[in-house]
Amino acid sequence: MRRRISRPAKPGACRLYLSFNRKGDPVVLPLDAHNRELIDNVHPADWVNPQPASRYNLVVIGAGTAGLVTAAGAAGLGARVALVERHLLGGDCLNYGCVPSKCVIRSSRVAGELQKAAKLGFVFPGEARAEFSTVMERMRRLRARISHHDSAERFRSLGVDVFLGEARFTMPDTVQVGGKALRFKRAVVATGARAVHPPIPGIAEAGYHTNETIFSLTELPARLGVIGGGPVGCELAQAFRRLGSEVVLFQGASRLLNREDSDAAEILRQTFLREGIRLALNSRPVRVERSAAGKTLILSTPSGEERIEVDEILVGAGRAPNVAGMNLEGVGVAYDARKGIQVDDSLRTTNPRIFAAGDVCLEDKHTHGADAAARIVIQNALFLGRKKLSSLVIPRCTYTDPEIAQVGMSGEQARESGVDVTTFLRPFSEVDRAIVDGEEDGFVKVHVRSGSDKIVGATIVAPHAGEMIGEITLAMVGGLGLGTLSGVIHPYPTQSEAIKQAGDAYQRTRLTPFVKNLLSRWMEWTR
Ligand SMILES: Cc1cc2nc3c(=O)[nH]c(=O)nc-3n(C[C@H](O)[C@H](O)[C@H](O)COP(=O)(O)OP(=O)(O)OC[C@H]3O[C@@H](n4cnc5c(N)ncnc54)[C@H](O)[C@@H]3O)c2cc1C
Repeated sequence: MRRRISRPAKPGACRLYLSFNRKGDPVVLPLDAHNRELIDNVHPADWVNPQPASRYNLVVIGAGTAGLVTAAGAAGLGARVALVERHLLGGDCLNYGCVPSKCVIRSSRVAGELQKAAKLGFVFPGEARAEFSTVMERMRRLRARISHHDSAERFRSLGVDVFLGEARFTMPDTVQVGGKALRFKRAVVATGARAVHPPIPGIAEAGYHTNETIFSLTELPARLGVIGGGPVGCELAQAFRRLGSEVVLFQGASRLLNREDSDAAEILRQTFLREGIRLALNSRPVRVERSAAGKTLILSTPSGEERIEVDEILVGAGRAPNVAGMNLEGVGVAYDARKGIQVDDSLRTTNPRIFAAGDVCLEDKHTHGADAAARIVIQNALFLGRKKLSSLVIPRCTYTDPEIAQVGMSGEQARESGVDVTTFLRPFSEVDRAIVDGEEDGFVKVHVRSGSDKIVGATIVAPHAGEMIGEITLAMVGGLGLGTLSGVIHPYPTQSEAIKQAGDAYQRTRLTPFVKNLLSRWMEWTR
């Protein structure tokens, strides 16, 4: 089988840092002890695929979060399970998504704290500077450590038959991998998604990074151009800026984070400008040229064409589902190259034996969503389960500083869907803990169905908004209204008191003139 090789074909070519070597084994650069440990765990070079069982209860294609959770859960319930992975177990999240990005973001947060340190009374004799190679070494060390959890050996010990190789359906009940046929009662396609490679003339020749290669860097790019103002682009633009790069962020729309609450996106815009990120909103790269000094992005902007020079380009302009090469058509699994595999509410595809889970079929592409979908698939594929995707309440968070967390609908989405909502807002400039922490840029917004306290959605902008959104998610899952959250006691002072305060604001609306009148009569009478 022909494989891509890891080295650039020629200087400046699109670099495939994370790929396969000539022997067909995955390579994760740089090849240091940490990345060797990672590979030893998630794609051991000496792995021998087992002899297939005569028939499996479940064959799982793809060992990212969705595939791993499905395989482990099903095997734990006694099913005979085969798990097939063509590259690295752990998928995007472990290898070039959540884990490495959150490690780098953690280091960049220290840089953010140091920038605020003078205001908090600290004086440094010299300039505090991030050592990029150490930041990345830390990331590789922690990623390798976490990789034990997703290792091929661990899954074998859980009773899963782990096959390394490319999976392809050959019959409606058979998957082929490395010359071996795996027959199944049910199969799950959990092949994830990959970065969209933009069709910008010259960009491939000039060379660019995606999330699959950026975490292999060992030297900080002096000037970084980030294409895409979604979660991946925003998180990494801020992290690289704080670690010392000059960053320009290109975004076709007039605002960052299109899907998020516009007030939240505005806070992020102001934060980015304050931190020295250059924002090229309403702009579209139309060409890339190589120059002696780096790479020149030629932009189309409302005021005409503009040229911006950078050393490296990071593309974070969306994710495309991995649907090709599996012969899905041949086994009656309908899909769309952009939207992914077509599933019903039970995550069953158009072939009743085959299910899908994770990024390959979900609109919202998150690890916790992939995990939740996997749990639905286990019940619906192996038992007579009737679990529904639509019954889940799945929050999300963009890990910028401040973080932007969302659950349910934003106010804008509610209005677009014709849902009449009343919004309760608590800005952190009115929350004691945020004031003493110097973290006033943010808010808690809770939307309730008008005339009731039923929560339809909430947005939190705060340094740890991802942690705080859990309380509102719990309320939505448990059917608790905003009035109930008013009665939840938080330790003082905490930023999560803002949620209770939003609840208090709701309770005050219940004090109608009629109720007030009754109360004052009561007071008069009992005086
Ligand atoms: C930079 C970045 C940061 C992110 N940060 C977060 C975050 O903080 N929180 C969060 O919740 N989400 C985050 N995500 C999203 C998260 O990584 C994904 O939603 C999650 O990994 C999806 O899991 P999955 O199992 O569906 O797919 P994947 O993790 O993509 O796994 C699919 C697997 O299938 C394999 N495969 C594909 N085709 C075949 C085949 N034919 N045969 C065999 N194997 C195959 C692939 O090699 C891959 O290993 C981030 C993503 C990126 C890019």
